[in-house]
Amino acid sequence: MLIIPIFVPHAGCPNDCCFCNQKIISGNTSVPDAESVLSTIQFYEKIANRYDEVQLAFYGGSFTAIEVSLQEMFLKTVQPFLKVNGGFIDRIRASTRPDCIDESVIDRLIKYNVSIIELGAQSMDDNVLKMSKRGHTSEATRKASRLLKGAGITLGLQTMTGLPGATSESDRKTAEEIAELQPDIVRIYPTIVIKDTDLYEWFLDGEYISPSLEETVDLCADLLEYYESKNITVIRMGLQSSDNISDRGDIACGPYHPAFGQLVKSRIALRKTEGAVKSLCKASAGTRGKSLIISVPKGQCSDYIGQKKCNSEYIKNKYGFRSVKVVECSIGEEQNNSNYPNVIVR
Ligand code: SF4
Repeated sequence: MLIIPIFVPHAGCPNDCCFCNQKIISGNTSVPDAESVLSTIQFYEKIANRYDEVQLAFYGGSFTAIEVSLQEMFLKTVQPFLKVNGGFIDRIRASTRPDCIDESVIDRLIKYNVSIIELGAQSMDDNVLKMSKRGHTSEATRKASRLLKGAGITLGLQTMTGLPGATSESDRKTAEEIAELQPDIVRIYPTIVIKDTDLYEWFLDGEYISPSLEETVDLCADLLEYYESKNITVIRMGLQSSDNISDRGDIACGPYHPAFGQLVKSRIALRKTEGAVKSLCKASAGTRGKSLIISVPKGQCSDYIGQKKCNSEYIKNKYGFRSVKVVECSIGEEQNNSNYPNVIVR
């Protein structure tokens, strides 16, 4: 899928959440005008035919909180390029705050063919929302989600772990309440302390302590497994270097890793492998000193091996194998993920 990104930094956002420095995250400091939106679309139009689906996304601030005339300027600029109007863009998506959705907003979204809305829910714990200066309650997220789903708009919910006042238990509870809203997609962002924010001041004063990368990976692995068990697609975990924050010294602290999502998937792969190895060791005595072969679904070898072979080394050392090899299941073998990993000793 090709996504045409239009960043609308902080425009219209009525809030200043403790963790947000939207200008840094989007890498932009000014609101684009119609001309620059047009030239961005025309730039991507040249490569659009290489993709099955093309979406235009308004990222950044709170789209539906922007002055209505500005929203309409953006949306009108895109209309001629939509497939429904003979163009090449399949869908428009935007992100916004839960308290910036009501019936009149929904009417406007439908009028201009906006079909995916991502709400920054962040937490469903009202105390966490208050401590993070979100300026809305969990009820606002419930209400906005109901309105969007009722209008047939694809619902995305963005969540954060490790916010001020949050614990791993409250973050798990948030995931349960998010799942009850039946979103189509979810994003999980560990809280990162970015300079020039309230959270940065609290960090300097010792009032906020970031959870470690290790515990955050573990927690997000739990959350990902939970959402998958509810058939909810998690489309992203963690800020990435493309968010323009990694190489500019903007991060003060926090569980940031450029491949955070892969670390989480790799943790889940390790859990599955260890479960299979434990059963194997129980069933057949004398596995120590032998070679272990882990057969995994196509395309998942790197998750199972882990970064810098950490998963393979962990299994090898903990269970005393001479060697550990991860291989893709052979062509023709059943590709049912629930059957994997398949472990064999030789
Ligand atoms: S609502 Fe979004 S854009 Fe506004 S301050 Fe909070 S995180 Fe930043």
